[in-house]
Amino acid sequence: MAKAFQLGLTGGIGSGKSTVAARLAMRGATVIDADQISRSLTATGGKALGLIAERFGPELISADGSLERQRMRELVFTRPEARQQLEAIIHPLIAGETMRQLEQAISQGCRLIVHDIPLLVESGHWRTQLDGVLVVDCPEEIQIERVIARSGLSRQEIEAIIQAQASRNQRLACADWVVFNGQSLDLDALNTCVDQISAWFGL
Ligand code: ADP
Repeated sequence: MAKAFQLGLTGGIGSGKSTVAARLAMRGATVIDADQISRSLTATGGKALGLIAERFGPELISADGSLERQRMRELVFTRPEARQQLEAIIHPLIAGETMRQLEQAISQGCRLIVHDIPLLVESGHWRTQLDGVLVVDCPEEIQIERVIARSGLSRQEIEAIIQAQASRNQRLACADWVVFNGQSLDLDALNTCVDQISAWFGL
């Protein structure tokens, strides 16, 4: 069996990372989505909830048994050590579920495994487990426009998220490949570009 290539995929909010991931999946890559795993850990019945309640108090868990996301967000914005404590709970659980999905993909003979990791650059420990990193890059102003169009977030909220993420240059410094998804590219052109990348990986 040919060895699967493990590609890290990252990009700032609104860069187009999810669009790229979806197209790679359509072409036959297995996408392991760190955010989706993280969300499932804190959804009703999720594995992280007991530990979160123990560490931060039962008020962080809502009546339906899922995480009180807004309250948690406020906590980690106001207390940096809370973010570290939360990450100490979540990261090992994400790693365990990632490994499970990875082993499944490898056993099915998948050639390209895409690790969709929004905070790949911020949490450097991922890097050693990957064969290469693809960064989806675009100017900040376009990130903001896209997220405003997609969500109910205000410009100010989006700017705060961008500030909290790695900078464009930090992300680019980690890249083996870059898809520049700026204004010059429409969705069709982006998909064509991703198809070329897929072909390069034998998909
Ligand atoms: P991310 O996952 O990086 O936050 P998405 O892939 O969800 O970003 O893209 C954000 C929004 O911008 C989506 O609505 C997507 O359809 C749109 N979008 C992404 N790239 C382009 C592009 N090249 N042209 C037009 N719209 C785009």
